[in-house]
Amino acid sequence: MVEKPPITFEVLARDGEARAGVLTTRRGIVDTPVFMPVGTAGTVKGMRFEALEEELDARIILCNTYHLWLRPGANVIRKCGGLHRFTGWRRALLTDSGGFQVWSLGALRKITEEGTRFRSHIDGNLQFLSPEISMEVQAALGSDIVMAFDECAAGDAAPDVLRRSMELTSRWAKRSRVRFDSLQSQALETGRTAPSETINGAQALFGIVQGGSYLDLRRESLDRTTEVGFDGYAIGGLSVGEEKTVMWRVVTDITPRLPADKPRYLMGVGTPEDLVEAVSRGIDMFDCVLPTRNGRTGQAFTSRGKINVKNAQWAVDTRPLDETCDCSVCRRHSRAYLRHLCLSGELLASVLLTHHNLAFFLDTMRRVRQSIRSGDFNKFRREFTEGLNEFEQDKALSSSDV
Ligand SMILES: [Zn+2]
Repeated sequence: MVEKPPITFEVLARDGEARAGVLTTRRGIVDTPVFMPVGTAGTVKGMRFEALEEELDARIILCNTYHLWLRPGANVIRKCGGLHRFTGWRRALLTDSGGFQVWSLGALRKITEEGTRFRSHIDGNLQFLSPEISMEVQAALGSDIVMAFDECAAGDAAPDVLRRSMELTSRWAKRSRVRFDSLQSQALETGRTAPSETINGAQALFGIVQGGSYLDLRRESLDRTTEVGFDGYAIGGLSVGEEKTVMWRVVTDITPRLPADKPRYLMGVGTPEDLVEAVSRGIDMFDCVLPTRNGRTGQAFTSRGKINVKNAQWAVDTRPLDETCDCSVCRRHSRAYLRHLCLSGELLASVLLTHHNLAFFLDTMRRVRQSIRSGDFNKFRREFTEGLNEFEQDKALSSSDV
């Protein structure tokens, strides 16, 4: 049997650097640019898969290797037939490598050439993660897109620290590639043999460009990563507390240098305006916890900007969260009711706000794709960004009335 490539990627339309394409995975088609909801522990918090699939039409979600490896553990997921069968999610799945999560543990970790030793955030036990172990765990998870194991240095680290980190990441990229290839060639686990599903083909592997805020390090990292050769390329180590101007300098410089025929993924970014700005620089894929995490703290993203649903100004406001949103929450519920749920600590507050926030992010990406296809992306970008300031302008107006 001739094997299909793990993924194919085709750019269908361009508008400036922005691109609209189709990423075909072994579990379905993903239109790009795409936002991937974050499903850390095998669940997009507060969302049923039916809503994600049927109402929001999310084609791909992200899960965190680190969390699933610690709990319930790779063996449990392996015995349950991989992450798709374990969770019931049937569409495409990307798993990160655990590198970023381990990095974010800060003082709890120790990095050596071999890998990273750290204390689990769950029980404090000593754990060890390496490129090889990350590939083995991601094979057991059976994700459709696997991320290489990288080291993420602090954005404000000294140049020599960032250089050592970038060089370590490139050695780990090679080790990730070697272990990944041997797992795929043995067809061990990796999700490809799931008998109840017509899965044909290996997992895909993405490489990660690091190098902090230094363009020379970033470019060197890019060269070393593309030399190893991956199915797609990510820019990592951004949106970790550095100035926005730094992030845009790196994204603007590096994105057009990434291979044009492969998907480009900006990890951990960002706000709705960040997504649109990054698309204008040639990025195809995103993930971010903002719509889900903020939904649980009473914040809603709307076409007129971000609002705190708990604020007194919405107490008797019978309008939907976003008057231009067609999601089931906006069709049924008022700002006043959502505020009441938030203030009462009702479970449903998180569920409804998360649903609307994800609907807004996914709908924004749908409109981004349409505008690129019709050659109107710059017009869309201008109008969308202006719209996001409207709540701020309202506030300025009402405070000047006082
Ligand atoms: Zn809505």
